Amino acid sequence: MTVVQTRCVSYCLLGMMRKGISFTLGRENCADVARRDTHRTLANLGSFPSPLTLVFRAQVWYLWFAAMGCWSQELERKSMVRTILQLGNPALRARCIPVRSFHTPDLRALINDLRDTLEDFKARHGFGRGIAAPQIGSPQRVIFINVGAPLALINPVIVKRSRKQMMLWDDCFSFPDLLVKVRRSLSIEVRYQNDIGKRHLLKAEGPLSELLQHEIDHLQGILAVDRAIDSKHIIYKSEYEKWREAHAQVLL
Ligand SMILES: [Zn+2]
Repeated sequence: MTVVQTRCVSYCLLGMMRKGISFTLGRENCADVARRDTHRTLANLGSFPSPLTLVFRAQVWYLWFAAMGCWSQELERKSMVRTILQLGNPALRARCIPVRSFHTPDLRALINDLRDTLEDFKARHGFGRGIAAPQIGSPQRVIFINVGAPLALINPVIVKRSRKQMMLWDDCFSFPDLLVKVRRSLSIEVRYQNDIGKRHLLKAEGPLSELLQHEIDHLQGILAVDRAIDSKHIIYKSEYEKWREAHAQVLL
């Protein structure tokens, strides 16, 4: 067998040899021939890496940069404060669609956006307890509240309402300068799912009850102005402050 033939055979069998398979060609072991020729080749090439090594290294670097890119994008997504749609935007009137896929990056990103947008609004305006997905232009049945502790409610549905009702001045991120007097159920029960699809039942009274009714209304395209007890009870917040005493008499 010529040197060239030996080299060809040895390169072909190189992979097999690494898995522990060896053959004997005459008096010389095939593994020895392959190892010797490989060493010679590397010696001829000096310290310059082989094309296979270069391809492998390029793939490793590509995967590394791709992973870093996804990671940085994910970080950006987690800290995104979204624009809150204002009264008059048709998207606020859309009926939202139920969430079908849970524990997904998209759902996680939506919840994070709602959380950050809520916190940003609260920092700038001094109030804010809840926000609904359509308010940031996402027509999905998701709301996020923070009343002492943050909570995302997916596909919330009011399954029970008390007969007893309360009246209150309501406000909204989508018309932050207005107050609207509305009538709400004093207590309710809400079925919802968490971000991994687990079902829960939440019993709420008073302030939490009216907050949930407000946010769940958003998912139907219903706004607090639609719930006004009459047209006289949609007022500017600044005027309410001027006439607080007069308004307080009819607050009950
Ligand atoms: Zn609102």
